[in-house]
Amino acid sequence: MGSLVIITGTPGVGKTSVLNKLAKEAEKEKIALRIVNFGTTMNNLLESSGNNVHRDELRKQNLGKQKAVQLEAAKLISKMKNHYVLVVDTHMFIRTSVGAFPGLPEYVIKELDPSMLVLIEADPEDITKRREKDQTRKRDAQTFQDVESDLEWGRKTAAACAIMTGAPVSIINNEEGSPDNAVKQILDMIKEVI
Ligand code: AMP
Ligand code: MG
Repeated sequence: MGSLVIITGTPGVGKTSVLNKLAKEAEKEKIALRIVNFGTTMNNLLESSGNNVHRDELRKQNLGKQKAVQLEAAKLISKMKNHYVLVVDTHMFIRTSVGAFPGLPEYVIKELDPSMLVLIEADPEDITKRREKDQTRKRDAQTFQDVESDLEWGRKTAAACAIMTGAPVSIINNEEGSPDNAVKQILDMIKEVI
């Protein structure tokens, strides 16, 4: 069975760009790696039951519904483990109208059974700017303080995940303008868990 690596980062941290580069680098180095986006998996599950929800509307759905689809997505993703490194692109928590909803609660992380967790961070000023600029997503209006609190909450929930699974957590800084450093650090760690 291949290994599973969870990669998280608060919105605006540059996670998607880092992951795109990671896929290219892995290919160059002939490392069998596959990336699966947790939100997309949830969306696809909803779509197959006739529910078309925009990815940025998912967090606004009824919490019970989010939890049910979340668990279904985790089960589906855990079945994708194969003879490659399965990288799961997700979130430590999701801001909902009723508070911080864990992206990796016990029932999800036990299904995924990761070898390693990566938390991507960036300078809070850069994150705030990226959130403001990003026209491709329906981001909620957020202040610098919200971003700082998201970073703090990300670390706390990451620590909880480490305790629940025994998997190590590393915090990777995605410096503005040089995502290659973050990609290299992640790829080097992936090589250790293959
Ligand atoms: P993303 O494109 O990675 O920002 O994810 C889009 C949306 O998918 C998020 O805003 C959440 O609503 C949902 N999502 C992603 N990962 C999880 C998770 N582990 N648990 C619950 N919802 C998730
Ligand atoms: Mg993203």
